[in-house]
Amino acid sequence: MDKHKGNLFILSAPSGAGKSTLYKALLSQDSQVRISISHTTRAARTGEEHGREYYFTDVEDFLDMIAEDAFFEHAQVFDNYYGTSKASIFTMLEDGLDVILEIDWQGARQVRQLYPDAMGIFILPPSLASLEERLRGRGTDADDVIQRRMSKAVNEMSHYDEYDFVIVNDDFDTALSQLQSIFTAMRSKTTVMKEKNTILINDLLSL
Ligand code: GDP
Ligand code: ADP
Ligand code: 5GP
Repeated sequence: MDKHKGNLFILSAPSGAGKSTLYKALLSQDSQVRISISHTTRAARTGEEHGREYYFTDVEDFLDMIAEDAFFEHAQVFDNYYGTSKASIFTMLEDGLDVILEIDWQGARQVRQLYPDAMGIFILPPSLASLEERLRGRGTDADDVIQRRMSKAVNEMSHYDEYDFVIVNDDFDTALSQLQSIFTAMRSKTTVMKEKNTILINDLLSL
């Protein structure tokens, strides 16, 4: 896969750990970051909009996209399909923007294979009790959905050590500043600076 100017980040967490709240806060403060909008076959929640949180599609269209090789990665999570289309990320990376994939651990594994430079960040809740409290407090999921998400949470969290960074989302502002630091640091990586500052580096080394 070609080297792009922007960095690719994978953000994973058990449902309810706070990853959407965190990335939305990051996006509002950092104009160089974009979120990839996934396709999903799950129903839209109240307040969610087609083309903003997700592209909501039916199973037939999703399977057509798989057949057309339109996905960078896709996975089945909680009985629904979720996938990142190639179109949704490569233009932004070519434009030098940092792109966040909010995907599960299965998708993360596929992305690491395809794009080894991707940086993985895993968000942990401060406890199982607060995870359940946040899922309930969000008010978007029915009781049986919350129970299923809780029982999947331990499985999702058991993959935390496949990621480059781990953030415990206890105090929100602390977690947000840790997330911001990771994005800032990645922009100073030598491989990234080499791509972005070719003229300066050639100039400095030309004497
Ligand atoms: P949330 O966990 O409450 O944010 O619920 P969502 O319905 O937004 O996400 C459900 C699961 O699907 C999570 O584990 C996400 O990480 C995962 N997910 C979302 N988008 C993608 C995607 O494009 N690819 C993959 N592989 N997983 C995704
Ligand atoms: P996810 O996207 O991981 O499923 P959300 O971002 O939807 O999780 O967060 C779940 C709920 O927890 C939301 O109601 C959110 O406002 C709340 N929340 C997020 N971070 C914190 C935090 N540090 N302390 C308390 N509540 C939080
Ligand atoms: P929710 O249904 O609560 O929006 O998301 C459930 C899970 O699906 C989350 O853990 C989320 O990260 C994951 N998910 C969302 N979009 C994608 C995607 O495009 N690909 C994969 N693999 N997982 C996704």
